[in-house]
Parts: sequence; structure tokens; C-alpha cells
Amino acid sequence: MTVTHAQAQAHQTWAPDFDALRREDPELADVLLGEARRQAGGLQLIAAENFTSPAVLAALGSPLANKYAEGYPGKRHHGGCEYVDVAERIACERATALFGADHANVQPHSGSAAVLAAYAALLRPGDTVLALGLPYGGHLTHGSPANFSGRWFDFVPYGLDAETGLIDYEQVWALADKHRPKAVVVGSISYPRHPDYLAFREIADEVGAYLIADAAHPMGLVAGGAAPNPVPYADVVCATTHKVLRGPRGGMVLCGAELAARIDRAVFPFTQGGAQMHTIAAKAVAFGEAATPAFTAYAHQVVTNARVLAAALLEQGLAVTTGGTDTHLITADPAPLGLDGPAARGRLAAAGMVLDTCALPYGDQRGVRLGTAAVTTQGMGEVEMERIAMLMGAALRGEERAREDVAALALAFPPYPSQGGR
Ligand SMILES: *Cc1c(COP(=O)(O)O)cnc(C)c1O
Repeated sequence: MTVTHAQAQAHQTWAPDFDALRREDPELADVLLGEARRQAGGLQLIAAENFTSPAVLAALGSPLANKYAEGYPGKRHHGGCEYVDVAERIACERATALFGADHANVQPHSGSAAVLAAYAALLRPGDTVLALGLPYGGHLTHGSPANFSGRWFDFVPYGLDAETGLIDYEQVWALADKHRPKAVVVGSISYPRHPDYLAFREIADEVGAYLIADAAHPMGLVAGGAAPNPVPYADVVCATTHKVLRGPRGGMVLCGAELAARIDRAVFPFTQGGAQMHTIAAKAVAFGEAATPAFTAYAHQVVTNARVLAAALLEQGLAVTTGGTDTHLITADPAPLGLDGPAARGRLAAAGMVLDTCALPYGDQRGVRLGTAAVTTQGMGEVEMERIAMLMGAALRGEERAREDVAALALAFPPYPSQGGR
């Protein structure tokens, strides 16, 4: 199934209405307009980013932003919650239906806040946790010494096979057996393949550990049926709503009925105060969109595009980690072109292609990480992915004309078409 440009356009009609802001605060109006133009003027290849729909933006910019609502629907510490309660109930119902979970908490302000709540619900300070090491693509919340997780818990890192770039389940099993963690975390900021959730469940069961899936990246693919669902395997699933899922910036936690009360208490009042009701309404809108056949087509196209782009980048001479991808995400080593990750990112940025550097499964050199969620929302397909790989190759080789060609491609696929002529 392919998402046609027309379909994408029908979905994406939004003109930034900055007129009121321009009158009140021209300085900030210029910043907002500048950012809207920046997003439309180049290729947004950051794997964690996407373009939300006009309906999501409308909910975010609504008067729900004014409402204080500590607590949960029907049990608030503030009055006047009759409408926001409905918004939160709808968000929770849509999330549980979409992912087949017993319970959803949609209040976490971010993905990190969702992970913090999961730890707070299941662990005590000093407990041992097994997670993918940061040098291999573990998130900051998976034991970084600069993060609460590394300070308050005893993280044991597992790695990736240096040859294949894949999770070494034997190693995970051996480390679990040796360290007897209270929780095992599966999830990464840069793993391009599907984790084997069943294998992780078996390892966790073997040592009596909780299994926490931090599925911030793939959860949008899961919603569209384009990636395996961690919900049946993990005790708790944490996610963001703003990556492939294409909702507002924020987090959520999914769990079984037996952990529901503990998760809710861990979010509020343990780690957060008042819920952001405009964001929760926007999450509800995004979950509604994600339940449509159009989103299923989108999620599959995201993966098809990533596979085509990965293969084309191999042809351009980049060393694509694991030889390809199952998801929206690609990691690659530009070393064969004589560049490291930061140098490659710089050349690509200069040509209008925005992406990140990332850790690689082997050695010290950083690589590049990119994803197809945003460009697929713009309506790009396989032909454009081949083109992007050629433009990346040209920019990395220092060819000047790449910049103009990138701008032309971006102009042909405006994220919000009504912006196109600006
Ligand atoms: C993005 C991400 C997070 C954190 O999300 P924020 O909203 O930036 O806090 C946590 N874990 C993983 C695996 C992620 O990819």
C-alpha cells in the first residue's frame, strides 16, 4: 500500500496563523514563522520527529492549555474539570483499544517522564536493572550517570554483537542470570530491527524480573500494524506520542490491570503535578488518527521507505548497520566516505538535510541516525527515497548542487501544503 501525495495533502492543510502574535509580539512571531519555514525548506530526517496533523495542532493551541487538572478523571483536585475529564477518558480508551492494553496513563509530560514513572512504580532506589548500554543506543533513562536512572539505580548494560549489530540474547540471558535484576528494559534510540519481545519475556521470567518495554520509537509502527506489539509481553510499556505515532510531544504508559493503580500513583502525585490537558486532548486526536486505515498505510509506507533508503545508502557507500532496517530508523557509518558521524551531519545540514549522529555497535566512532517518519508524512515514496540517498551521497562527497536539489524536493512535498507558496 502506498500513501499518495494527494492523500497526504488532504490530511495536511494548515497555514500558520501568526497574525495575532505578530501584533502582540513581532519578535516571537518571526521566530515561529522562521521555524515553520525551516521545517518546510529542507528534509527533516531526525528519526524521532514527525509532522503532526492540523487537528493535533488545533488541540495543542486550544483553551484546554488554561486548565488545571491534578488527579484523574472523576478524582480531580480542581473544579471545572467536566470537559477535560472527557478528553482524558477518550485518550485512555483510544490508547487501550489501539494497543490492546488493559490500562493506559496518558499524563506523562515526555517519554522520559513515562520511564521515570515505570521505575517509580516497580523499583526501589539501589535496585539492579538490565538495559541496553548507552554506547549501543540505550536512552539516557537507561542508566546514564547524568540522569536520575544512573544515579538512583544499579544499571547493568548489555551490548550488541559487534559483527551483526544485533542484540545478543545469550549475553542478555547470561547477564540476567549473573546479576538477578529487578527489571529488564528492552528499547533503544537507534536499534533498527525488531526486538524479540518473547525472548526478553522468557529471560525476565527466568530471573523473576519485571519486563519494561521502552518503545518510544516503534510505537507508531505498532499502532499501524507495521511492527510487533510489546504489550502482550511486557509488564509495562513506555512510549512517546510524538515520534512515528505523529501526536503531540508527550509520553504514555501502558500496563495490565494489576499494575494500573501503581502506575497511576507513580505518575501523579509521585513524579508529576497537574496534567497538561491540551496535550492530552491532542494525544486523543492522534490516537484517533492512528486507528484509521490511512495511518496503517502510512506506517507500512514508513517501513518500505526506510528499507529502500537503507539499500540506496549502501549503494552510496555508507556502511548501514545490520545491513538494513525493519523499522523507520536507519543507522550508518560514513567512514567508507572518509567522514565520521559529526562531520557527515555537518555536511548534510549544510545541504538542508537534518539528522543526528549516533553510537555504533562497534568501535568509538559515531555514525549517523536517520528516519523516514516525517518525509513519509509529506507524501514521499520509494522514488523520493532513492533521490534522498543520491542527494546525501552528493552532499557527503562535498558536491555543491545538493543544496538546491534538496530545496526543490522539499518544496514539492510541503508538510502543510497551504504553506507551499510562502
Ligand atoms: C525518545 C525516547 C525517550 C524519551 O522521550 P522524551 O520525550 O525525549 O523524554 C525515551 N526512551 C527512548 C527509547 C526514546 O527513544
